[in-house]
Amino acid sequence: MLREFRTDLHVHTCLSPCGDLSMSPRKIVAEVLRQGINIIAVTDHNSAANIGAVTKAAEGAPVVVLAGMEICTREEAHVLAIFDNETPALKLQSVVYNALSGVNNPDVFGLQVMANELDEVEGFEERLLIGATDLSVEDVVRAVHKLGGLAIAAHIDRESYSVIGQLGFIPRAVTFDALEVSELTSDKDARTRFSDYMRYVFVRNSDAHTIDRIGAQTTRFLLEAPTASEIGKALRCEDGRKLVSVETRIDNRQSIVR
Ligand SMILES: [Zn+2]
Ligand SMILES: [Zn+2]
Repeated sequence: MLREFRTDLHVHTCLSPCGDLSMSPRKIVAEVLRQGINIIAVTDHNSAANIGAVTKAAEGAPVVVLAGMEICTREEAHVLAIFDNETPALKLQSVVYNALSGVNNPDVFGLQVMANELDEVEGFEERLLIGATDLSVEDVVRAVHKLGGLAIAAHIDRESYSVIGQLGFIPRAVTFDALEVSELTSDKDARTRFSDYMRYVFVRNSDAHTIDRIGAQTTRFLLEAPTASEIGKALRCEDGRKLVSVETRIDNRQSIVR
C-alpha cells in the first residue's frame, strides 16, 4: 500500500567541518522525531563515517535513516548520494577518500567529529573533508549508480558549489535522479530558471548544518516503503510512486510552496 513519507534527504552531522558540534546523532534524531519527519539522509561532506551512529541512535524510533554523502567533485560541484544502508556508502567512501587530498586544520575549517550513537566523541577525521575530490561530476554519478544509489545535484540554484553554478549547465552525459533546489528560489522561479531541466523532479531538503535548520525544507513522497529504491521510483514516477509536495519553512511558519 502506498503512503506519504515526509523526507529531509540532506542533513549534515558534526563530522562536517562546517557542521555545528551540536549536530550529534541523538540530537539530530530527537529533532527529526519532534518534527515528524519520516525519512532523513545523513549527508556529510565526502564521508560516511557518522552514518552508523545516527542509524543506531534512531533504532526503534519511527524514523528511517538513509545513508548518504555530499561529494565535492573536481569541478567543485556538490552531488548528493543516497543509499539504503551504510554498506554501499562505505564503499563510496573508499572511492572518495582515494580521490581526496589534504589534512584538516580545525582552527580554519572546524572540527570533524566522529561520534557514536550515545553522542560520545570517537575521534576526529584528519582528512580535509571540505576539499574537492579528484572525481568529475560524471565519475561521481557513475560510481553512485554502480553501487545502487541515487545521485542528486545539490542546491542547483546556488552560485557556489553547484553543478549549474560551476559549469553553467548539466552535462549531457550525466544522468541525475533529481535536482535539489534551495530555499533561495521559489518553485515558480525554479521552473523558469531551470526550464531546460524540467525532465527532472525538483526536490527540497534542509542542507542542515545546525539543529534549528533540520526540516527547513522537506519533500513528501508517495512510497510503498521508506527506502532509497522506492524514492528512486517516485523520482521516475513509476508504479504510482511520486513526489507529492515540497515545503519550505519561512520564519518558523510552514508554507507550502508547491
Ligand atoms: Zn553543498
Ligand atoms: Zn550540504
